[in-house]
Amino acid sequence: MQITRRTALAAGLSTAAAIPASRALGETGSTNRRRVLRVAHLTDAHVLPGKGAGDGLAMCLEHAQDKGADFIIFGGDNVMNVDGDGRETAAAQLDVFKGSVKHACSKPHHCVIGNHDILRLDPVDGKKWATDAFGLDNRYGEFAVPGSGSWQFIALDSTSPEGGGYKGRFDDEQLDWLERTLRDVPEDQHVCIVSHIPILAACVYFDGENEKSGNWRVPGAWMHIDARRLKDLFLKHPQVKLCLSGHIHLVDVVDYLGVRYACNGAVSGGWWRGDYHEFAPGYALVDLFDDGSSEIEFFNYGWVTRE
Ligand SMILES: [Zn+2]
Repeated sequence: MQITRRTALAAGLSTAAAIPASRALGETGSTNRRRVLRVAHLTDAHVLPGKGAGDGLAMCLEHAQDKGADFIIFGGDNVMNVDGDGRETAAAQLDVFKGSVKHACSKPHHCVIGNHDILRLDPVDGKKWATDAFGLDNRYGEFAVPGSGSWQFIALDSTSPEGGGYKGRFDDEQLDWLERTLRDVPEDQHVCIVSHIPILAACVYFDGENEKSGNWRVPGAWMHIDARRLKDLFLKHPQVKLCLSGHIHLVDVVDYLGVRYACNGAVSGGWWRGDYHEFAPGYALVDLFDDGSSEIEFFNYGWVTRE
Protein backbone atom coordinates (compact mmCIF):
# COMPACT_ATOMS: atom_id res chain seq x y z
CA MET A 1 0.00 0.00 0.00
CA GLN A 2 1.24 3.39 -0.93
CA ILE A 3 1.29 5.68 2.05
CA THR A 4 -0.03 9.07 1.10
CA ARG A 5 0.58 12.15 3.19
CA ARG A 6 -3.07 12.09 4.23
CA THR A 7 -3.01 8.48 5.51
CA ALA A 8 0.31 9.10 7.25
CA LEU A 9 -1.17 12.15 8.95
CA ALA A 10 -4.26 10.22 9.96
CA ALA A 11 -2.15 7.41 11.37
CA GLY A 12 0.03 9.91 13.19
CA LEU A 13 -2.99 11.63 14.62
CA SER A 14 -4.59 8.44 15.87
CA THR A 15 -1.43 7.24 17.58
CA ALA A 16 -0.66 10.68 18.96
CA ALA A 17 -4.12 11.04 20.45
CA ALA A 18 -2.98 10.00 23.92
CA ILE A 19 -4.99 12.81 25.47
CA PRO A 20 -8.73 12.22 25.10
CA ALA A 21 -10.58 15.08 23.43
CA SER A 22 -12.67 15.61 26.54
CA ARG A 23 -9.50 16.21 28.54
CA ALA A 24 -7.90 18.40 25.86
CA LEU A 25 -10.97 20.62 25.74
CA GLY A 26 -11.83 20.58 29.42
CA GLU A 27 -14.30 18.15 30.90
CA THR A 28 -17.84 19.38 30.93
CA GLY A 29 -19.18 16.95 33.50
CA SER A 30 -21.57 14.00 33.30
CA THR A 31 -25.32 14.43 33.27
CA ASN A 32 -25.93 12.54 36.51
CA ARG A 33 -23.27 14.30 38.54
CA ARG A 34 -24.01 15.38 42.09
CA ARG A 35 -22.96 18.66 43.67
CA VAL A 36 -20.65 18.04 46.60
CA LEU A 37 -19.89 21.53 47.78
CA ARG A 38 -20.45 25.23 47.14
CA VAL A 39 -17.39 27.36 47.85
CA ALA A 40 -17.30 31.16 47.79
CA HIS A 41 -13.97 32.52 46.57
CA LEU A 42 -13.50 36.06 47.88
CA THR A 43 -10.23 37.40 46.58
CA ASP A 44 -8.49 40.78 46.60
CA ALA A 45 -10.60 42.33 49.36
CA HIS A 46 -7.77 44.85 49.99
CA VAL A 47 -9.32 45.80 53.30
CA LEU A 48 -8.17 48.99 55.03
CA PRO A 49 -9.55 51.49 57.51
CA GLY A 50 -11.65 53.91 55.45
CA LYS A 51 -13.52 53.76 52.12
CA GLY A 52 -16.03 51.53 53.93
CA ALA A 53 -13.88 48.53 53.01
CA GLY A 54 -14.72 46.62 56.19
CA ASP A 55 -18.45 47.05 55.50
CA GLY A 56 -17.87 46.02 51.90
CA LEU A 57 -16.22 42.76 52.87
CA ALA A 58 -18.98 42.05 55.41
CA MET A 59 -21.64 42.75 52.77
CA CYS A 60 -19.88 40.43 50.32
CA LEU A 61 -19.67 37.67 52.94
CA GLU A 62 -23.37 37.99 53.70
CA HIS A 63 -24.23 37.84 50.00
CA ALA A 64 -22.16 34.68 49.51
CA GLN A 65 -23.66 32.97 52.54
CA ASP A 66 -27.19 33.91 51.43
CA LYS A 67 -26.35 32.16 48.16
CA GLY A 68 -25.62 28.99 50.09
CA ALA A 69 -21.82 28.96 50.30
CA ASP A 70 -20.63 26.10 52.53
CA PHE A 71 -17.07 27.35 52.81
CA ILE A 72 -15.23 30.64 52.22
CA ILE A 73 -11.80 30.99 50.64
CA PHE A 74 -10.11 34.37 50.97
CA GLY A 75 -7.87 34.39 47.92
CA GLY A 76 -5.11 36.77 49.00
CA ASP A 77 -4.51 40.51 49.04
CA ASN A 78 -6.94 40.22 51.90
CA VAL A 79 -5.54 43.46 53.34
CA MET A 80 -4.80 46.59 51.32
CA ASN A 81 -1.03 46.73 51.03
CA VAL A 82 1.22 45.83 53.94
CA ASP A 83 3.99 45.01 51.46
CA GLY A 84 5.21 48.60 51.53
CA ASP A 85 4.09 49.54 55.04
CA GLY A 86 5.18 49.44 58.63
CA ARG A 87 3.78 47.23 61.34
CA GLU A 88 1.35 49.85 62.65
CA THR A 89 -0.58 50.42 59.43
CA ALA A 90 -0.40 46.69 58.75
CA ALA A 91 -2.02 45.98 62.12
CA ALA A 92 -4.73 48.56 61.44
CA GLN A 93 -5.58 46.94 58.10
CA LEU A 94 -5.60 43.49 59.65
CA ASP A 95 -7.92 44.66 62.44
CA VAL A 96 -10.52 45.71 59.89
CA PHE A 97 -10.22 42.39 58.03
CA LYS A 98 -10.56 40.35 61.21
CA GLY A 99 -13.47 42.50 62.40
CA SER A 100 -15.44 41.88 59.19
CA VAL A 101 -14.75 38.14 59.26
CA LYS A 102 -15.75 37.89 62.92
CA HIS A 103 -18.90 39.92 62.41
CA ALA A 104 -20.09 38.52 59.06
CA CYS A 105 -18.53 35.11 58.42
CA SER A 106 -20.47 32.22 59.97
CA LYS A 107 -18.97 29.55 57.70
CA PRO A 108 -15.59 27.82 57.96
CA HIS A 109 -12.94 29.62 55.97
CA HIS A 110 -9.33 29.59 54.87
CA CYS A 111 -6.98 32.40 53.84
CA VAL A 112 -4.48 32.34 50.98
CA ILE A 113 -1.54 34.76 51.04
CA GLY A 114 -1.27 37.42 48.34
CA ASN A 115 1.63 39.69 47.46
CA HIS A 116 0.09 42.64 49.33
CA ASP A 117 -0.31 40.51 52.49
CA ILE A 118 3.46 40.09 52.93
CA LEU A 119 4.86 42.65 55.35
CA ARG A 120 7.41 44.78 53.47
CA LEU A 121 7.51 41.97 50.90
CA ASP A 122 10.10 40.25 53.08
CA PRO A 123 10.39 36.59 52.02
CA VAL A 124 10.88 35.31 55.56
CA ASP A 125 9.67 37.75 58.24
CA GLY A 126 7.04 39.26 55.97
CA LYS A 127 5.56 35.88 55.14
CA LYS A 128 5.68 34.96 58.83
CA TRP A 129 3.62 38.09 59.51
CA ALA A 130 1.06 36.92 56.96
CA THR A 131 0.76 33.36 58.27
CA ASP A 132 0.33 34.70 61.83
CA ALA A 133 -2.14 37.33 60.65
CA PHE A 134 -4.42 34.83 58.94
CA GLY A 135 -4.05 32.03 61.50
CA LEU A 136 -2.16 29.66 59.19
CA ASP A 137 0.23 26.88 60.20
CA ASN A 138 2.23 27.37 57.02
CA ARG A 139 2.22 29.68 53.99
CA TYR A 140 1.20 26.70 51.80
CA GLY A 141 -0.35 23.28 52.31
CA GLU A 142 -3.48 21.21 52.23
CA PHE A 143 -6.46 22.59 54.09
CA ALA A 144 -9.54 20.84 55.38
CA VAL A 145 -12.94 21.68 53.95
CA PRO A 146 -15.80 19.97 55.81
CA GLY A 147 -18.00 17.83 53.57
CA SER A 148 -15.68 18.07 50.57
CA GLY A 149 -16.08 14.39 49.69
CA SER A 150 -13.75 13.44 46.85
CA TRP A 151 -12.26 16.95 46.64
CA GLN A 152 -8.95 17.93 48.23
CA PHE A 153 -7.83 21.52 48.64
CA ILE A 154 -4.32 22.91 48.38
CA ALA A 155 -3.30 26.52 49.08
CA LEU A 156 -0.05 27.74 47.55
CA ASP A 157 2.07 30.84 48.03
CA SER A 158 2.49 32.47 44.61
CA THR A 159 4.71 35.38 45.58
CA SER A 160 8.45 35.04 44.98
CA PRO A 161 10.04 38.35 46.02
CA GLU A 162 12.98 39.34 43.82
CA GLY A 163 14.82 42.56 43.07
CA GLY A 164 12.50 44.75 45.15
CA GLY A 165 9.48 43.35 43.31
CA TYR A 166 8.12 39.85 42.90
CA LYS A 167 7.25 37.16 40.38
CA GLY A 168 4.47 34.60 40.36
CA ARG A 169 6.43 31.44 41.03
CA PHE A 170 6.42 28.51 43.46
CA ASP A 171 9.82 28.24 45.13
CA ASP A 172 11.71 24.91 45.04
CA GLU A 173 10.62 23.86 48.54
CA GLN A 174 6.99 24.39 47.66
CA LEU A 175 7.16 22.77 44.24
CA ASP A 176 8.90 19.76 45.73
CA TRP A 177 6.14 19.46 48.31
CA LEU A 178 3.47 19.84 45.62
CA GLU A 179 5.02 17.11 43.45
CA ARG A 180 5.20 14.71 46.40
CA THR A 181 1.69 15.55 47.54
CA LEU A 182 0.13 15.06 44.10
CA ARG A 183 1.87 11.69 43.76
CA ASP A 184 0.00 10.52 46.87
CA VAL A 185 -3.47 11.66 45.81
CA PRO A 186 -5.63 8.59 45.02
CA GLU A 187 -6.83 8.37 41.43
CA ASP A 188 -10.50 8.80 42.34
CA GLN A 189 -9.89 12.09 44.17
CA HIS A 190 -10.12 15.59 42.70
CA VAL A 191 -7.78 18.44 43.56
CA CYS A 192 -8.54 22.15 43.75
CA ILE A 193 -5.48 24.40 43.97
CA VAL A 194 -5.82 27.97 45.19
CA SER A 195 -3.05 30.46 44.51
CA HIS A 196 -3.20 34.24 44.58
CA ILE A 197 -1.50 34.89 41.23
CA PRO A 198 -3.09 33.10 38.26
CA ILE A 199 -1.19 30.07 37.01
CA LEU A 200 -2.84 30.47 33.60
CA ALA A 201 -5.26 33.24 32.61
CA ALA A 202 -6.63 35.06 29.58
CA CYS A 203 -7.58 38.31 31.33
CA VAL A 204 -3.92 39.20 32.00
CA TYR A 205 -3.67 40.23 28.33
CA PHE A 206 -6.04 43.12 28.94
CA ASP A 207 -4.69 44.36 32.28
CA GLY A 208 -2.62 47.16 30.78
CA GLU A 209 -1.63 48.02 27.22
CA ASN A 210 0.20 44.75 26.80
CA GLU A 211 0.27 44.87 23.01
CA LYS A 212 1.69 48.41 22.85
CA SER A 213 5.13 47.31 21.66
CA GLY A 214 3.63 45.46 18.71
CA ASN A 215 3.93 42.16 20.56
CA TRP A 216 1.96 40.72 23.43
CA ARG A 217 3.77 41.00 26.71
CA VAL A 218 2.53 39.54 30.01
CA PRO A 219 4.72 40.28 33.07
CA GLY A 220 5.77 37.39 35.30
CA ALA A 221 4.26 39.29 38.22
CA TRP A 222 0.80 38.93 36.69
CA MET A 223 0.76 35.25 35.72
CA HIS A 224 2.94 32.41 37.02
CA ILE A 225 6.26 32.46 35.17
CA ASP A 226 6.56 28.73 35.94
CA ALA A 227 3.18 28.00 34.29
CA ARG A 228 4.69 25.65 31.70
CA ARG A 229 6.24 23.47 34.40
CA LEU A 230 2.96 23.42 36.33
CA LYS A 231 0.97 22.55 33.19
CA ASP A 232 3.30 19.57 32.69
CA LEU A 233 2.96 18.55 36.35
CA PHE A 234 -0.85 18.69 36.24
CA LEU A 235 -0.85 16.61 33.06
CA LYS A 236 0.96 13.87 34.98
CA HIS A 237 -1.61 14.14 37.78
CA PRO A 238 -5.07 14.34 36.22
CA GLN A 239 -6.57 14.50 39.71
CA VAL A 240 -5.87 18.25 39.49
CA LYS A 241 -9.12 19.64 38.13
CA LEU A 242 -9.38 23.24 39.25
CA CYS A 243 -7.04 26.18 39.92
CA LEU A 244 -8.53 29.31 41.51
CA SER A 245 -6.77 32.67 41.60
CA GLY A 246 -7.26 36.41 41.91
CA HIS A 247 -4.68 39.23 41.75
CA ILE A 248 -5.75 40.69 38.41
CA HIS A 249 -9.17 42.03 39.58
CA LEU A 250 -10.58 40.76 36.25
CA VAL A 251 -12.69 37.65 35.66
CA ASP A 252 -12.12 34.71 33.35
CA VAL A 253 -12.24 30.93 33.07
CA VAL A 254 -9.68 29.06 30.98
CA ASP A 255 -10.10 25.32 30.35
CA TYR A 256 -6.81 23.79 29.29
CA LEU A 257 -5.71 20.16 29.19
CA GLY A 258 -8.36 19.03 31.62
CA VAL A 259 -7.72 21.74 34.20
CA ARG A 260 -10.07 24.66 34.74
CA TYR A 261 -8.24 27.87 35.67
CA ALA A 262 -10.49 30.61 37.06
CA CYS A 263 -9.44 34.15 37.88
CA ASN A 264 -12.16 35.46 40.12
CA GLY A 265 -12.17 39.28 40.11
CA ALA A 266 -11.92 41.34 43.30
CA VAL A 267 -14.13 41.96 46.32
CA SER A 268 -12.69 45.51 46.23
CA GLY A 269 -13.27 45.95 42.47
CA GLY A 270 -10.96 48.86 41.66
CA TRP A 271 -9.48 49.03 45.20
CA TRP A 272 -12.79 50.40 46.59
CA ARG A 273 -12.76 53.30 44.12
CA GLY A 274 -15.35 51.67 41.84
CA ASP A 275 -15.25 49.11 39.05
CA TYR A 276 -12.04 47.77 37.54
CA HIS A 277 -12.35 47.72 33.77
CA GLU A 278 -15.67 45.95 33.11
CA PHE A 279 -15.88 44.34 36.56
CA ALA A 280 -17.71 45.67 39.61
CA PRO A 281 -16.73 44.50 43.11
CA GLY A 282 -17.66 40.85 43.41
CA TYR A 283 -16.76 37.26 44.16
CA ALA A 284 -17.18 33.79 42.67
CA LEU A 285 -19.40 30.94 43.71
CA VAL A 286 -17.74 27.67 42.82
CA ASP A 287 -19.88 24.52 42.69
CA LEU A 288 -17.87 21.30 42.86
CA PHE A 289 -19.33 18.02 41.62
CA ASP A 290 -18.57 14.40 42.47
CA ASP A 291 -17.22 13.68 38.95
CA GLY A 292 -14.50 16.34 39.26
CA SER A 293 -16.33 18.97 37.26
CA SER A 294 -17.12 22.49 38.45
CA GLU A 295 -19.40 25.41 37.70
CA ILE A 296 -18.23 28.93 38.46
CA GLU A 297 -20.35 32.06 38.59
CA PHE A 298 -19.21 35.59 39.35
CA PHE A 299 -21.53 37.76 41.43
CA ASN A 300 -21.58 41.46 42.19
CA TYR A 301 -22.85 42.06 45.71
CA GLY A 302 -24.14 45.58 45.16
CA TRP A 303 -21.35 47.68 46.62
CA VAL A 304 -21.64 51.45 46.12
CA THR A 305 -18.41 53.45 46.36
CA ARG A 306 -18.03 55.69 49.40
CA GLU A 307 -15.84 58.76 49.56
ZN1 LIG B 1 -2.18 40.58 44.18
